[in-house]
Amino acid sequence: MPRVLSGRLDQPPRLTVKQLAAQAQRLNQAVPYLAAAYRQALNRWQGDPVLRLTGRPIITECYRSSERQNELFALGRSKPGLIVTYKRGGDSKHNQGPPTPAIDVAFQLADGSVSWSGLLLSKFARLMKAADARVVWGGDWVTFKDRPHFEVLTAGKGGDKRG
Ligand SMILES: [Zn+2]
Repeated sequence: MPRVLSGRLDQPPRLTVKQLAAQAQRLNQAVPYLAAAYRQALNRWQGDPVLRLTGRPIITECYRSSERQNELFALGRSKPGLIVTYKRGGDSKHNQGPPTPAIDVAFQLADGSVSWSGLLLSKFARLMKAADARVVWGGDWVTFKDRPHFEVLTAGKGGDKRG
């Protein structure tokens, strides 16, 4: 609480020029209709007087190399930590492209910290799905809920539930 109270709760969280450049770079890696859905959801969020004060949606990752995927896969298995993925290098939608059919989302808070709040992510997921019905939210998965994760089916892979 002290960290939140030190922030300006009457001001929406803002990104620095450098952070905005990183956001644009990640968004450019995404397949166009996923990027368009994100832009529309972000605009709706930022246009909502309540939501915009809770946090600023950010893309934490889009394209990810197979090497980095394997490093993440090692977490909670051959390396200490919590399991963050069930995909080996090459199996994740983050490893495709660019254009990449997956993004991970979090929220920049007014105090500068980053939140992966399930409540905020579920609210953002509603806007993402409303923007484009082809968007799949990882929070809707039954076996492994991946709430920061959004993806779209890629051409010729319909029905292939590899994620
Ligand atoms: Zn993801």
